[in-house]
Amino acid sequence: MEATDEQIAEQLQAKVDALRGRVCCACQSEICGHELLFSIAMGLGDNPRCANCLADGLGRPTSQLRDHLQSHFRQRSCYGEVWQRESEREGFARGTLPGCLWAGTDTEHPPDAEDLLDAMVKPLEEPDVIGLAAEAWDAGEMACGDLVLALRQRMNALPAGTRLKLTAQDAGATEDIPAWCRMTGHVLLAQHHPHYWIQRKE
Ligand SMILES: [Zn+2]
Ligand SMILES: [Zn+2]
Repeated sequence: MEATDEQIAEQLQAKVDALRGRVCCACQSEICGHELLFSIAMGLGDNPRCANCLADGLGRPTSQLRDHLQSHFRQRSCYGEVWQRESEREGFARGTLPGCLWAGTDTEHPPDAEDLLDAMVKPLEEPDVIGLAAEAWDAGEMACGDLVLALRQRMNALPAGTRLKLTAQDAGATEDIPAWCRMTGHVLLAQHHPHYWIQRKE
């Protein structure tokens, strides 16, 4: 039986709770619940980082990473729910941009980062043109932070340029995998749920 959105949100909340109190593994600064969610979404739930170090590691401006992940979370009920709870915990109203990461801004929503990043990756709809991938991995029912964590570890172990065919049954993968690829720089060659063809970045 498939887990409900509520169950998935509870699992995600448990991951955040388990990490609470950890400091950034790069700069040792304190990290808030939002940054823990960022780390989980980027596949770094084993070694959480502050937003600045996360962005540094990806070679992106912090504001771009932040806006992109926040807009991604708006598409995903599990991340969205836990995000709002973390805002309340930190004293920010639901539905506003939390001042811990958006100090000095007062817009309701950040500009949509998707358009900008879509230009960098053009996933093809037809997987036939991709040919054989060198590697294949069936992630089964893995979801949310577990899926991207395991995917990150697999991609890191591959030589640059290697193509991986990922099979991921979780319905959220249709949002999570493209978002993860855009931010990490790995190339999503094609997606045809539950299959995703990803080329490891150079
Ligand atoms: Zn840091
Ligand atoms: Zn925060």
